[in-house]
Amino acid sequence: MEFYPVAIEKLIEEFAKLPGIGYKTAQRLTLHVLNLPQDEVKEFAHALVKARGTIKYCSVCGNFTDTDPCAICNNPNRNKSIICVVEEPRDIISMEKVKEFNGVYHVLHGTISPMAGRGPEDIKLRELVRRINGSVKEVIVATNPNVEGEATAMYISKILKPLGVKITRIAHGIPVGGDLEYADEVTLAKALEGRIEI
Ligand SMILES: [Zn+2]
Repeated sequence: MEFYPVAIEKLIEEFAKLPGIGYKTAQRLTLHVLNLPQDEVKEFAHALVKARGTIKYCSVCGNFTDTDPCAICNNPNRNKSIICVVEEPRDIISMEKVKEFNGVYHVLHGTISPMAGRGPEDIKLRELVRRINGSVKEVIVATNPNVEGEATAMYISKILKPLGVKITRIAHGIPVGGDLEYADEVTLAKALEGRIEI
């Protein structure tokens, strides 16, 4: 049994809510925080509150941003006729590191997953359809190469094709079951270059 003061127990509980953090790690993080100078703890707490308070989703693409539209959507040098569809905002960071993509993005905030009970209406698909107009020439689907990512890509192709836009899928340079997040830049650049129409 643990007999920590309430404040400590509470902090452990909060850390343990974070993804990938078990009770033991939460305990270690808490003890670490307790050993930090007061100023550093204040700075940490402030960063949490500030990030959550000022960061929102871009109303155009769904990326994290502190301005709306985001810097990418607002950039006149980005090619608005190519939209790269990704699952999560972190995938944009992976794509941007490649530096070969000069289009804009659309973040789905998830995938279609019948197993998990997530349908097309649970991700930002309607918002994607709304963005397709005469000036959009190509939609590159860069969902992850796993069952859910593929199912989502197929669904996107099915609903966008009738709108007369070219739909491509990034090539399988990325290992099946791997995430965009972990793909190195060369692999991702090749996958983008070798994209095929679906
Ligand atoms: Zn945006």
